[in-house]
Amino acid sequence: MKREKERRKKILELLREGEKTPKELASYFGVSLMTIYRDIKELEREGLIEKEHGILRLKEKKEVVPKDCIVCHKEIDGRFNVIFFLKDGKKVQTCCPHCGLMAFKTQGDNIEAVLMKDFISCNPINANACWYVVGASISPCCAPSAFAFVDKEVAEKFAKGFGGKVLPLKEAIEEIYKLMSMGTKVEFNL
Ligand SMILES: [Zn+2]
Ligand SMILES: [Zn+2]
Repeated sequence: MKREKERRKKILELLREGEKTPKELASYFGVSLMTIYRDIKELEREGLIEKEHGILRLKEKKEVVPKDCIVCHKEIDGRFNVIFFLKDGKKVQTCCPHCGLMAFKTQGDNIEAVLMKDFISCNPINANACWYVVGASISPCCAPSAFAFVDKEVAEKFAKGFGGKVLPLKEAIEEIYKLMSMGTKVEFNL
């Protein structure tokens, strides 16, 4: 009994490092496949792991938000990221408000809520409540750039210095698509 417990604990540790097959686990512990399947069944029952096409992984792994932008696939560094809460319970991210505004169209009806980060404070705010500066002359991530601000006055000051239009969400989405179709160079890291 004790040995089983220890082995199951170790299985969870191994799966934390990456996906494994039952066969790999059996040979790791030097036990029969039958024994491993019994462990798997128990761990599945406890909701700790899941099996897909014969591959085992930790269940919590699925809930981790993917680390790449769903629009341009750039790796997300977290400074400007936008988080999308989807209706199916999943979370996805974009690297910056540029891709965030684009994703409103690609994700469409699937969107439950969206959190932007205020460019000044980095505090998360509901995308509907933000003011956007679209098409400014600087772009810290994707171009044409978009910046999100909680405060309209700050957005206007920013636009005064760096150019771009100050817009609410709906118009900002349209503006970014308009600028894209005008052929502004965009770097996609595919
Ligand atoms: Zn992106
Ligand atoms: Zn970006």
